[in-house]
Formats: sequence, C-alpha cells, structure tokens
Amino acid sequence: MASQNAGKLQVAIVGGGIVGLITALGLLKRNIPVKIYEQASSFREIGAGVAFTANALQCMALVDPVIVDAVNAVATQNGQEGAPPNDYLRYHDGYNWDPNDIEGSDDKLLGLLYSGYKGFQGCHRAALLDELVKYIPSHAVEFRKRFTECKDRGPNERLLLQFSDGTSAEADLIIGCDGIKSKIRQLVLGPENPASYPYFTHKVAYRALIPMERVEPVIGAFKAYNQHMHTGPRAHILHFPVSGGKLLNVVAFAAEPADWPLGDPNGVRNMTSPATRADVAAVFQGWGPTVTKIISLLPDDIDKWAIFDTYDHPAPTYVRGRVCLAGDAAHAAAPHHGAGAGIGVEDGLALCTLLEQATATLSSQTNATTGAVVEAALQVYDAVRPPRSRWLVQSSRSVCDVYEWVHPETGEDWDKCLAEITARSHRLWYFDIDGMLKELRDGYESRFPPSSSSSGVVDAGKFAEGAKGKMDGAVMENVAIGIAT
Ligand SMILES: Cc1cc2nc3c(=O)[nH]c(=O)nc-3n(C[C@H](O)[C@H](O)[C@H](O)COP(=O)(O)OP(=O)(O)OC[C@H]3O[C@@H](n4cnc5c(N)ncnc54)[C@H](O)[C@@H]3O)c2cc1C
Repeated sequence: MASQNAGKLQVAIVGGGIVGLITALGLLKRNIPVKIYEQASSFREIGAGVAFTANALQCMALVDPVIVDAVNAVATQNGQEGAPPNDYLRYHDGYNWDPNDIEGSDDKLLGLLYSGYKGFQGCHRAALLDELVKYIPSHAVEFRKRFTECKDRGPNERLLLQFSDGTSAEADLIIGCDGIKSKIRQLVLGPENPASYPYFTHKVAYRALIPMERVEPVIGAFKAYNQHMHTGPRAHILHFPVSGGKLLNVVAFAAEPADWPLGDPNGVRNMTSPATRADVAAVFQGWGPTVTKIISLLPDDIDKWAIFDTYDHPAPTYVRGRVCLAGDAAHAAAPHHGAGAGIGVEDGLALCTLLEQATATLSSQTNATTGAVVEAALQVYDAVRPPRSRWLVQSSRSVCDVYEWVHPETGEDWDKCLAEITARSHRLWYFDIDGMLKELRDGYESRFPPSSSSSGVVDAGKFAEGAKGKMDGAVMENVAIGIAT
C-alpha cells in the first residue's frame, strides 16, 4: 500500500466535463499528479453554446493561460466581421409590438449592459472541449470509468475509488467534478440527504444551433451577429453567434408546470425530452415579430432541456474528509447568469491554489502527513467557496424572474429591472479574485504555517503577468461597466 508520506499528492478528479478538465490543467501546470476518471468513452460536451463572464476568464488565466488560448481559439465576438466588437448585452421587449406596423416593427430596446472589451463571447461547446483536450496528456485520463464508491481505509492510507467495471484506483484526495447528478455529492452528504440531489426548477430550455445563412436573411445581420435577450412575460429568448459566426445559438426559456422526474441518476437523456418547433411557437404565441421570426428558424425537431438546480436543498458543505465537490456537482445553478461553468472555474482555481500550498508543505515539512495536509486544504476550500456559489444559485433564479417580468421588486418597470440585472451581474463579474486567493492562502497558512525554506508556491502575480497577453481579446480587464439605454 502506498505510503502517505510520499511527498507528492496524487489527485483523482471524477468527471471530465469543463470543470474537471480545467482543474486538471491547473494541477498539471503546478506539477501535481492528477488523473481524471470519466464515465464516457471520450470527452464530450452536450448542449450548444457557452459563454464566459469576465471573472471566469480571469480565473482561467490564473489556472493556466493555455485555457484562455483554448477559449480564444473558438470564441466568437459579437458584431459583424470587420466591425469593432460589440461589447454590450442587449435587452429587448420581445412581447409588446405594434400590430399595425408588422414590417417595420421591431423589439423595443430596453437597455444595454456593458460587458467589457469583447465581453461574453459565445463558444461552441464541442469545439471548446476539443481545444482544451489538446492540453491533457493521455496519462492523465481514463475513460469508461464510472465511479461508484470510495473506501476510506484509514488516515494513513490512500482513498480507494471503485468503478462500475470492477476496477479500482488510489488517490490522496478526490475532487468530484461529476456534474449535476453527482455521485460524489451523495458520498459527501449521504444518499438519504435531500441535498444530495438536484431538483426541477419548473423551467425548460429549448436549444438549437441554426446555420447563419438561414438566419441573416430573416432577422438581418445586426441581430444575427450580436447577442440579444428578448424578455417578456414568463418566458425569454437569448441568442448569440458561435463558431466564428457560422451558427446562431438560440435558447428559449419557458415555464413547465408539470413535474420532471429525475429518473436514472446516471443518465443524461432523461434531462431532455423531444419537442418540436410548434411547441416553442405555442409558448411564444402573441409575442413580437422578432421573436416569432427566430422561432420560425428553429428546426422541426428540437430538444427540450429540463433546468435542474440546487436551490431547494443547497449542499451544507462541499467537503468530507479528503473528498470535495467542484462545479455543478457542488452547486448546480440555473443558467440565467450564464455563469455555471464560470463559477466552477473559480472552484478549480481555489483548489489548485490550495493543493499547491499543500504540496509545498509536504515537501518542506517532514512531520506533515498527507491526510492532515489535504484535509486542512479542503477545509479552507469549504470555508471560502460556498457563500459565493450558493449566491449564484439563488441569483440565477431571481434574475430569471427579472427577465420574465415577475420579480416582486421590479415587475414590468424596466428601469428597475435593468438596475437589478446590473447589480447582480456586477457582483458576479467584479469578483475580487485576489481577495479570494489571499483568503485561501491565509486560511491554509493558519493551519500549516510555511517553513522558512518553503518556496514551492507560485506567485499568482507572476501567473497573471504571463497570462495578460493571452487574455487580450477575450476578457474584461479593468472594465468600467456602465449602462446605456
Ligand atoms: C441551457 C444552459 C446554458 C448554459 N450556459 C452557460 C454559459 O453560457 N456559461 C456558463 O458558464 N455556464 C453555462 N451553463 C452551465 C454550464 O453548462 C455548467 O455549469 C457546466 O457545464 C458544468 O460543468 P461540470 O464540469 O461541473 O459538469 P458537467 O459538464 O456535467 O461534467 C460532468 C462530467 O462528469 C461525468 N460523470 C458523471 N458521473 C460520473 C461518474 N459517476 N463517474 C465518472 N464520471 C462521471 C460526466 O460524464 C461528465 O463528463 C449553461 C447550462 C445550461 C443548461
């Protein structure tokens, strides 16, 4: 059996989605041995487009600048080719329109929210994954490994991960990046705990990618190549260009009063169900011409995605001993801030930072045991990360109510709506990353003060310097966000 004083940590990441991959890249960058155990036979992303908020991009640069390279390689700026990028999120009234002016009538612009230079660029999910995977060495991943159980064989032994194929693996700690139906969350919180499971938000998303050559003649170039949010009563539609402007990513959100049983906790398909363009048209019946035209572009058959989250039963902790949760496994949120993956990237940065400190302790303090060092690092993670990610879960629900004109404090008063959206978005985007890193480092050092000879920790400032050039064109840096209407 492996000794606990071997000096180097062996990390197991369960789940090779975006958060698992990014966390693994950060650990590899810091020379911390890591292996991803992914249940699928290859890396794959389901869904259509994803966009990243400024805080996420800044954290990516600190985790490993190659991640920003990957985003830059596939991100599509808002604005037509050759034109300066359009850096504003656009909110429109998709519902009220002048029936006497069908041809000329358009969604009324309700407000603009500055999202930073080239802010909130869309990425095709599969293309982004392909880029990220290029940086993962083959020795750092095993496919067809569905995690089932973990055996804790005592404080001086590595944890034993067991997989559905009967095989097992050892690690000093496990990071559960296994998504919204996380098995590791059940391990951390207990299978009887209602917080071990996500719950239906009674919202669904109809998602499609539409070839741009079909889109532009119908809604015009400006709408086609710029991000738009069409708000209205109890529903809304978001669209933005992806794949270098070759595709339009459309997501239509609507209420779904009926229950949606979670079904097979290992499946994915049961979170989607087949739907048609006619279903979406029925939801948005009576809306304005722009929304009606966008719906007319949807394919005949389309998937309806159930939106689950952890709002009803938030995880009281993300950690148990040497096992922790990150990304959707910890705090799955509804997608209305466009930030679920982004806040998972913050988790990844926090874990990389702490495990780097833990590694430095192990190499400099011979009396420190791996178990104690890992548990200390994860306790600090659990003290620092949950408040912000729990807020995201709550705010994602609230901001959806604002978009759909049913928030009790904003209703249909669009000045109030925009002020509310701005305040929430700024709280998300203007995240004090340096503050988080300091809190993590101080918290860890209060448990394991660095020895005078210890110098293993990489200075985040140096990372930031190296990352700066990479971030150009994809990140909001020193943004002065403002509202224009
Ligand atoms: C409609 C919609 C739009 C969104 N838009 C955005 C956006 O614009 N920006 C943004 O930041 N976020 C967005 N999100 C949220 C974002 O998609 C998620 O937060 C993110 O994908 C979660 O990543 P993850 O790695 O934590 O989990 P996942 O991507 O779910 O990955 C989990 C991985 O774990 C594997 N796995 C599961 N169980 C096991 C097991 N037992 N053993 C081994 N492997 C296992 C799975 O196969 C999978 O590969 C959106 C979500 C939706 C639904």
